[in-house]
Amino acid sequence: MLGGLFFLLGLMSGSFLNVVIYRLIKRDSLLFPGSHCMYCQSKLRFFEIIPVLSYVFLKGQCRYCGHKLPLVYPIVELMSGIAFWLLYMQRGMTWDLLPGYIFTAFLITVAFMDGLWGIIPDRLNYPTLVIGLLLSLWMHNIFSALIGMIALGGLFLLIFIFSQGGLGGGDVKLALVIGVFCGWPGALGAFFIASVLAAVYAVVLLVSKKAGLKSAIKFGPFLALGSWAAWVYADIISLGFII
Ligand SMILES: [Zn+2]
Repeated sequence: MLGGLFFLLGLMSGSFLNVVIYRLIKRDSLLFPGSHCMYCQSKLRFFEIIPVLSYVFLKGQCRYCGHKLPLVYPIVELMSGIAFWLLYMQRGMTWDLLPGYIFTAFLITVAFMDGLWGIIPDRLNYPTLVIGLLLSLWMHNIFSALIGMIALGGLFLLIFIFSQGGLGGGDVKLALVIGVFCGWPGALGAFFIASVLAAVYAVVLLVSKKAGLKSAIKFGPFLALGSWAAWVYADIISLGFII
């Protein structure tokens, strides 16, 4: 029952994340104007902004101008619904859900902004970094958060310097945020999972000849997925590092 409520909360949060993903890139305000079609600017009524369902009923088109709506909309909504539900199933009704949901929302937004446009905005990284530090103070794991931040941020800074453009400055700041939320050794787990996923993806691209040896792949989406897994399944992963 509660799981279903958290799934709904995730769906609705996903709607807002879509707004963030598509407005932040244009430096638009997140709150004004209200829900509108980004192609014809028509104001949307309540039944046109129901997560996932509206997209299905409108057959992926704007009711006013007929422009195709991004498939990203329902994907983001479903992903955050499932992620919120999984988080609740893993951690139960605890205070852990608060940093968990903030981190989840941040990671989904970052993954799609980096995937779509190759940009991880400071306007996301900096506030989330501060929120993460405050939450870790409150939850008594500030030392783990600081070690995670310095370790992962430092590692990315080194890669940034030596890869000469293989990694963006946004990735380094993203690494700081992930370090704070995942702590130590979670941050290491996040990096490890992300690297394995990215390597598998690269091999698939190479084998299917969709990319050559010199093509660059965006690391943000993999890092987001790896960090999320490392955060939610922290117990299992830290156990793995001890063994
Ligand atoms: Zn429209």
